[in-house]
Amino acid sequence: MRSNIQDSKHRSSHTTEQEFGGTLGAICIPIFLPLTVLLLITLCQSPDASVLQWPPLLPSSERLWDPLAPMLVLGWMALHAVLYLLPFGKVSEGLVLRDGTRLKYPINGFYGLCITGVLLMLFMWLGAPLGFLFELLLPLAMCATALSFLLAVYLYVRSFWAPPHALALGGNTGNPLYDFYIGRELNPRIGNFDLKYFCELRPGLIGWVVINLGMLMKEVELRGSPSLAMIMVNSFQLLYVTDALWNEEAVLTTMDIVHDGFGFMLTFGDLGWVPFTYGLQAVFLVMHPQHISPLKAAAIITLNGVGYYIFRKSNSQKNQFRRDPTHPSVARLETIATATGKRLLVSGWWGFVRHPNYLGDMAMALAWSLPCGFSHLLPYFYVIYFTILLIHREARDERQCRGKYGLAWDTYCRRIPYRIFPYIY
Ligand code: NDP
Repeated sequence: MRSNIQDSKHRSSHTTEQEFGGTLGAICIPIFLPLTVLLLITLCQSPDASVLQWPPLLPSSERLWDPLAPMLVLGWMALHAVLYLLPFGKVSEGLVLRDGTRLKYPINGFYGLCITGVLLMLFMWLGAPLGFLFELLLPLAMCATALSFLLAVYLYVRSFWAPPHALALGGNTGNPLYDFYIGRELNPRIGNFDLKYFCELRPGLIGWVVINLGMLMKEVELRGSPSLAMIMVNSFQLLYVTDALWNEEAVLTTMDIVHDGFGFMLTFGDLGWVPFTYGLQAVFLVMHPQHISPLKAAAIITLNGVGYYIFRKSNSQKNQFRRDPTHPSVARLETIATATGKRLLVSGWWGFVRHPNYLGDMAMALAWSLPCGFSHLLPYFYVIYFTILLIHREARDERQCRGKYGLAWDTYCRRIPYRIFPYIY
């Protein structure tokens, strides 16, 4: 394998610049992020929910394991694999790859969400105790993490049989730890089944909202009815997930699909991190009920609505522009030329700040935490983490765009000086 690594390094290593802390990051992140997930769930389920407890609250070993968990995780993955293969919806082409070809992707994630919803209603009608997900959270997170590791090992090994042009530019450094973490192969497929695209939006995102529903049902078990705060968190996050799956085609132009290889960073991000940390507010509310006045609720709903509007409009505008710049909705926008032949928008949403979509996303993230009140920091984990993630992501994107567009990108930055927050950053 070593000679393979060296061989592929000579044949197709495109960049040695390492992201996410290089080798040190590639060692620490796969250890500490799964532990963080377990710690966060444990804290949210504890009466104190204090992030300042020292030593940190560790779950007992019997709380980490339940034989039902691996069956549920594998059954869940199998269900979504079957839904992925159903001949519903259109088939769309991704961006042009380095060998000049374009891959085809089924756009049927929204149907997957709807069918899952119907199946869940059926299970609940048959008496399935969905609230039990509260007790199962730690074992489920353990199993999802184990699955992410196994999948990443499989992806790493199989990447040595991939042709050089199928490798991600940044995941092919020859450093096994780093390449395992960041991902070597860009679009690993089994036949027509695209593993990265499948994991990106379906099992994790839909799993997240199902866990949220489980927390709502747990609240019903404990207190007779769901609280307004719980309904708000469930509804906001369901809107976000529904939007992502309704606009599934847009994922084909994101950094994850176009630029990043499929390694542990994405397997764990998609299957372990998103479903078990993005909905922590709902887990927190089960143990720490909150009262919200109608006025406060209206203000939070407005914030989520404004954030959603900015997020959706800006993403749709750029996607439309990249797919068809002559479309009437974008044809009149001011643009600047680049040496690659692609143009950059300098008016409309993308003339407001350089990442208006991140701004809207952050506003929504804040709205998801506010229903949890101000007594604890823990339910604000998502908005704090997400702000750091998007600021880091913006810097990565900026570096890539400067590499791609050179002087034209500098001109764009001079025209639109603020990155995410107008007049601040
Ligand atoms: P973006 O959708 O912001 O895409 C960035 C790319 O857009 C650039 O690389 C460039 O690519 C193109 N671009 C940048 N500026 C312009 C311009 N002025 N005119 C035309 N094209 C431009 O990237 P992401 O994939 O990071 O984000 C997509 C969405 O997903 C965002 O709303 C983000 O908030 C969300 N997201 C959510 C996450 C979550 O965990 N909830 C995680 C990550 C993202 P090119 O020129 O090559 O087309």
